[in-house]
Amino acid sequence: MIPATVLDNFRSSLRGQSFCPGDPGYDAARTIPNAMISRRPAVIARCAGPADVITCVRFARDYDVLVSVRGGGHSVAGKSVCDGGLMIDLSAMKGIRVDPAKRTVRAEAGLKLGEFDRETQAFGLATTLGVVPGTGISGLTLGGGFGNLMGKYGLALDNVIGVDIVTADGQLLTANAAENPDLFWGVRGSSGNLGIVTSLEYRLHEVGPVLGGAVFHPVAKTRDVLHFCREYVETIPDELILQGGAFSLPDGTQVFGVGVCYCGSSLSEGEKLLKPLRDFGPPMADMIQKMSYVQLQGMFEPFFPNGRYTYVKSNFMKTLSDDAIATIAEFAGKSPSPTSFAPFFEHWHGAVRRVGVSDTAFPHRNHDYNLIVWSTWEGPADSEKNITWTRQCWDTLRPYLVEGSYVNYVSDEGDAFARAAYGPNYDRLVVLKNKYDPTNFFRMNHNIQPTAAPLLKTGT
Ligand SMILES: Cc1cc2nc3c(=O)[nH]c(=O)nc-3n(C[C@H](O)[C@H](O)[C@H](O)COP(=O)(O)OP(=O)(O)OC[C@H]3O[C@@H](n4cnc5c(N)ncnc54)[C@H](O)[C@@H]3O)c2cc1C
Repeated sequence: MIPATVLDNFRSSLRGQSFCPGDPGYDAARTIPNAMISRRPAVIARCAGPADVITCVRFARDYDVLVSVRGGGHSVAGKSVCDGGLMIDLSAMKGIRVDPAKRTVRAEAGLKLGEFDRETQAFGLATTLGVVPGTGISGLTLGGGFGNLMGKYGLALDNVIGVDIVTADGQLLTANAAENPDLFWGVRGSSGNLGIVTSLEYRLHEVGPVLGGAVFHPVAKTRDVLHFCREYVETIPDELILQGGAFSLPDGTQVFGVGVCYCGSSLSEGEKLLKPLRDFGPPMADMIQKMSYVQLQGMFEPFFPNGRYTYVKSNFMKTLSDDAIATIAEFAGKSPSPTSFAPFFEHWHGAVRRVGVSDTAFPHRNHDYNLIVWSTWEGPADSEKNITWTRQCWDTLRPYLVEGSYVNYVSDEGDAFARAAYGPNYDRLVVLKNKYDPTNFFRMNHNIQPTAAPLLKTGT
């Protein structure tokens, strides 16, 4: 229990807003997109800038308060909100400055990726981020950042040039290739384990317009479509990204859709490359067209409204073998919920695979496909059947999957699961955790557990 006067002093020392249970705005501030997660922090600090973040860290250390950190709040595991502790909410920190001459951008940690894309595209520039505009840039980037530009330009974290970060001792550090390079290595893939990133600097690229959209096939054709895709991806350049899966169109039609983004400079070359995909079948609908990059990035938004119940299983695939395809086809269209995307694949190639396993803390570089069972539904009455189905699907696919998962796609599956997500980089991350966060102050995340002695309090 924190004495009321101490709590009041803390709240009045912040430049940003704060919320305690009973305050107007408290429930909205603690609510995250995944309705499965409902937690009640003792206090929520909506930071206005790095000084507030430092104040929060020092306060929580001095009074031994559990902290969670909210960027965009999209973690499916719900790691951004804690019960009874301090939720450090970065969502009001939305400063962004593009340097068109240097092709870089400095972005504060509370930006969502739709906001970021809009600002950079005003200059005809972009960098890899995810595919749903409401997702936070910081959680996404610190765990990886898969998206439409990754074949050409790498993951979001491969484009990070530097960060400002508040570490567990309440200091603001800069981490880049020259300053604190060990921290810079670890921040790119360790998903918030080493501190609170207040802003990130990214490299930008000339992007757009693009060829984007999707072709849709009846779900009964899933097996044929996947056999086609397996051959087709062998022929495509870095500029073309492919992902696909089973889901329901708004009118209830069950389909297997294949989404694309071609970001090359010659759209006529892109048209030629996409012809085999658009001819195959033929598809029941073809919605691939020239569009702005921002338009493409908004395409998935209507399918992922906030407030749905969400449970996700995901692992990279060993190989898309005939048996794996048959198993995916067996489950396609069978989800108990019409809002699920399951099973779903992301094809991996190009720049994301040319970075070494230990060049950043993100280890999953050598796989051809990531597989996702992304289940969403409307209310608690449907939770059991959807979770059971998701697990059944994933268990059946297990023989075709590698052990480690992408840390940003996993629901909360415990320590062993989290450890596997960091793969061969885990031990090196423990060394960094011991150096920068030996008390495991930052533990509302897919956790890297320190093995060192506890840190002393700041005394502030
Ligand atoms: C609808 C939807 C679509 C998605 N699409 C994609 C996609 O296309 N590509 C992709 O790669 N991923 C995607 N994801 C996964 C996404 O990357 C993760 O959910 C990610 O955690 C979201 O970041 P956030 O800031 O919104 O989340 P949060 O829940 O706020 O944070 C996630 C984790 O990062 C920590 N964290 C957040 N910000 C900071 C910070 N500034 N400093 C330190 N720690 C921080 C949090 O404490 C938490 O542990 C998607 C998720 C959803 C729900």
